[in-house]
Amino acid sequence: MNIPRLHFAHLPTPVETLPRLSERLGIRILVKRDDQTGLAFGGNKTRKLEFLLAEARAQGADMVITGGAMQSNHCRQTAAAAARFGLDCTLVLVGEPPSQPSANLLLDTLFGARLVWTTPDQRDETMLEVTALARAAGRHPYLIPYGGSNETGALGYVFAMEELLRQEVAPDWIVVASSSGGTQAGLVVGARMFGYEGRILGISIDKPEVELSRDIVADLAARTARRLGENLAITQEDILVNDSYLGQGYGVLSEREIEAILLFAQTEGLLLDPVYTGRAAAGLLDLIRQKFFAPHETVLFWHTGGTPALFARRYSGDILKAIQS
Ligand SMILES: *Cc1c(COP(=O)(O)O)cnc(C)c1O
Repeated sequence: MNIPRLHFAHLPTPVETLPRLSERLGIRILVKRDDQTGLAFGGNKTRKLEFLLAEARAQGADMVITGGAMQSNHCRQTAAAAARFGLDCTLVLVGEPPSQPSANLLLDTLFGARLVWTTPDQRDETMLEVTALARAAGRHPYLIPYGGSNETGALGYVFAMEELLRQEVAPDWIVVASSSGGTQAGLVVGARMFGYEGRILGISIDKPEVELSRDIVADLAARTARRLGENLAITQEDILVNDSYLGQGYGVLSEREIEAILLFAQTEGLLLDPVYTGRAAAGLLDLIRQKFFAPHETVLFWHTGGTPALFARRYSGDILKAIQS
């Protein structure tokens, strides 16, 4: 099957052992460094964009439109990839423009993206509106969904699983942050197609378990498999999601995330991000403490990036104290 793909990610990303963290936690932990995919500070959206931008070009698009949170890593990587391939990029962002753009938002503007601001309940409408206006102006827009999570973007993670299996590390578990579901869906399809026998656990960042596993990941995984000409029966029962770590909601930092960020930084010199990998790693720590994994098992933490968001916020009060202690 001929599926268009561009090649700009730095692949394969390394798999690293984390000896000091493993010793501290009493279980063997590896990390897959998709925070190092090479494009504009890296992250999981880069693999998806290899397929999405190839499809955009195959369809003759001259611009891409996508959306997300103000500090969206997906938007930052999309803006960078669009710049690299000479496509205009419009980002529909939720919120109000701050007087001083920082972190991912600063990078969006460096990459020359046009920013359109909207509210949470109008975001879908605004994306469609922006697309319709572009068409009316004679442009050829290509619309990328939130998080790049459709059956094209998820292909990036089908082949990421193939890549991991070639690295011959065979972890018993893969633990990964899951939000719009494309990463987990791709991994699940890749596991079936290429014969990964361990289990894949998504730590939900912002959605209840049933919604993410049933409505999003299982459905997207089945559609992604079909895109590859494979008829895989994938149901909710095949998808493992844990939604115990949603805390006060998307992007709200709690002591759990701070503990995880500090532990990874101070045992391994490894940076996590405050929104996704910090939360997923906090879930991993808690599950280890609850003895969810058997002591002889190996857990691979799939690092999905997001570290520029570390610079998006001011740290004060309790958080600074936690960082200093
Ligand atoms: C988007 C993102 C995720 C979630 O990936 P999905 O495919 O949307 O589930 C995880 N981590 C980081 C850093 C992200 O930017």
